[in-house]
Amino acid sequence: MIPPGKTIGIIGGGQLGRMLALTARRMGYRIAVLDPELACPAGPVADLVLTAPFDDSKALRRLAEASDVVTYEFENIPAESLRQVASLRPVFPDPAVLHTCQHREREKQFLQSSGFPCPKFEVVASASDLGTALKKFSGKTRLKSSAFGYDGKGQLALEPGNDPETAWAQANIPRAILEEHVPFVRELSVLVARNAQGRSLAFPPLENRHTAGILERTVFPARLTDAVANDALALARRIADKLGLVGLLGVEMFELPEGKILVNELAPRVHNSGHLTVEACHTSQFEQQIRAVCGLPFGMVAPLCPAAMFNLLGDLWTKGEPDWSPVLALPGGVLHLYGKTQARPGRKMGHLTVRAPTPEDAIRLGTEALAPIRQSAGLPALAL
Ligand code: AMP
Repeated sequence: MIPPGKTIGIIGGGQLGRMLALTARRMGYRIAVLDPELACPAGPVADLVLTAPFDDSKALRRLAEASDVVTYEFENIPAESLRQVASLRPVFPDPAVLHTCQHREREKQFLQSSGFPCPKFEVVASASDLGTALKKFSGKTRLKSSAFGYDGKGQLALEPGNDPETAWAQANIPRAILEEHVPFVRELSVLVARNAQGRSLAFPPLENRHTAGILERTVFPARLTDAVANDALALARRIADKLGLVGLLGVEMFELPEGKILVNELAPRVHNSGHLTVEACHTSQFEQQIRAVCGLPFGMVAPLCPAAMFNLLGDLWTKGEPDWSPVLALPGGVLHLYGKTQARPGRKMGHLTVRAPTPEDAIRLGTEALAPIRQSAGLPALAL
């Protein structure tokens, strides 16, 4: 067990690292962060900040030496860097888990070979592979980059008649998977924590809506039948077992019309859809990850209240810093800003969590409060 007072190293100093660090500090831990950006969001809340690329051996060694245990908040870290740190200090989740989850081909092959339900896919490494793969699907498909894909980046939606040469040139990626388009009724995520003794505990499922591949909002609890919710929880726990996870894992899923679930993606870290656990659950995802990697007992995951979380993207900053008055006036609203100085379209700058008596109230209150802010930035109101 790594008790409070010790130092937790975090590789990646984005908003996830910042929220992990804030939580760990509250619990009495010291924090060391490694990130390539000088002005990274976790910097101001860490005890030690190392500014260096993720493959800088000297910086990785310094991080390990300064830490009692090391975790990470970002998937696109070279697995080799984690292995280097793991030769000096415990790293959780294990570098092998990141190696599987950071690459779509390996992730999908892991899911398929372990018997976990996922969309049909083919591996593609050339225009001619794509032509062959397209013939195996009768309907719409998605071409997804094998590496460095997140928030819908490196993805192309294809129709049955599309020319493989043109599509491959447009995608401009060395390797990809071609995946069936899934006519889901809902997107879900389950965050599951697992400890070194093999005990796992999952938060109730979250209901997500994405726009242009980026999470727009999360609703809690997800509006599911008990049977689907139980299937989703059991699936996430089985995946965590199979991976031998120590830490927290976000499992993104599609719910099909008849209630069947397919796994979309795995993220061995705290997850954007779990931000509302800070206000809506007894224990937040950030605290649970810290408890898992430090070997503390898990905190209770029971819900405190329904909630909705809305991502605040850089698009809201097109005419300068938004006037937050409408969200600050919301009795159940909690504004989180990540301290990023540069706003860009699609960049996650903060989020708003709204607590309310029902999930529908939380959606409505948040959507209404954000409408004037979106309007000032020249954006249409969000759909309910
Ligand atoms: P991903 O980066 O793979 O999680 O994809 C981002 C978003 O694109 C998902 O959350 C879905 O909204 C959508 N998407 C991804 N894959 C598929 C698929 N096979 N069928 C339908 N929608 C998808």
